[in-house]
Amino acid sequence: MCALPALALAPRRATPADLRAMRDHVRASAQDRPGIYRMIAGDGEVVYVGKSKRVRTRLLSYFRASYPEEKGARIVREAAAIEWEYVPSEFAALLAEMRAIKRYRPRLNVAMKRDARHFAFIKLTRGAAPKLLAVRGPGGDDNAIYYGPFHGARRLQEALRELSDALGLRDCRLTQRVVYADQAELFHGPARTPGCIRLEIGRCLGPCAGACTASAYAERVRLARAFLDGVSDDPLDALRREMEACAERLEFERAASLRDKLGRLEELRGQFDRLRFAIESLSFAYRVNGVDGDDRVYLIRRGRIRAERAAPTTRVERRALKALAAQVFAEAEPGGSRVPTHEIDELMLLSSWFRTHPAELKRARRSR
Ligand code: SF4
Repeated sequence: MCALPALALAPRRATPADLRAMRDHVRASAQDRPGIYRMIAGDGEVVYVGKSKRVRTRLLSYFRASYPEEKGARIVREAAAIEWEYVPSEFAALLAEMRAIKRYRPRLNVAMKRDARHFAFIKLTRGAAPKLLAVRGPGGDDNAIYYGPFHGARRLQEALRELSDALGLRDCRLTQRVVYADQAELFHGPARTPGCIRLEIGRCLGPCAGACTASAYAERVRLARAFLDGVSDDPLDALRREMEACAERLEFERAASLRDKLGRLEELRGQFDRLRFAIESLSFAYRVNGVDGDDRVYLIRRGRIRAERAAPTTRVERRALKALAAQVFAEAEPGGSRVPTHEIDELMLLSSWFRTHPAELKRARRSR
């Protein structure tokens, strides 16, 4: 790592003299190698993190902005010092940048947040009566389960409504009081709420009104998770049976409405299948050539880096890497399109890297 000495201690905008000093330091010390850099304000706050295949060239470009309102000029004006560190490759720089942004949360790094918020996720809340929600971005609720990312929040919302209807899950506000039938005798508060229209028309089991037991509701939540994990088609089968029964009774209008609902759920199922395939296909050992022979091997499973090692050069090292890979790929873990919240950024980064660098997949060795 190479850091400037403290050029300014007070949190203030860089003066032309500060900028010249920082530029001269970059000119004198930085090299054109892959790495990440941090712009640090006078009070020590990391205000911006960036990465480059050629750190020196990239950093000098900040001092060549033609207009004061250009992004680069604005960033460097907030800085009193610049730090940088080298990594072996462009891929390593991308990873290091993502991790540094998560660690420092620099206020000028808005691009990444925008990326995550661009996508929609399914959130299964926790609590006494979980519900399904379509949300923008993975959010920071580590107690919830997230599925995604998906395109099209509105369509996702519609499909989730059908899924909630098919399974009788609630869709009301999170603060809704929950009183299960088997808890009624324990309930000493004011009179229960009577439920909403969804209870009356059989679209919700009514956990607000003591209309179902806790275990009956939990079973429907389990079915929702099984559907989202791709291991059960029960909600589709139930809708199909209902549609066929309506058609037999010559209730064609209702049958047509059920067919549309079925279509939306099948579309959701299709999205899940594609997502699951995309996640599962990001499972391999990926070798990356580094600067000065600093080659690395990344063990990637389900879109997340599980281990990183120097590329082996001896038989002993190869054997050790093979043993590690066997362990990484053999460990049991839930499949499907569920991804822990704190790992969604990594999944999206890897997916984008291999999509934009398809030739890199040739370096990937899948486990057998
Ligand atoms: S019936 Fe009760 S729990 Fe179900 S959606 Fe309506 S208010 Fe919510």
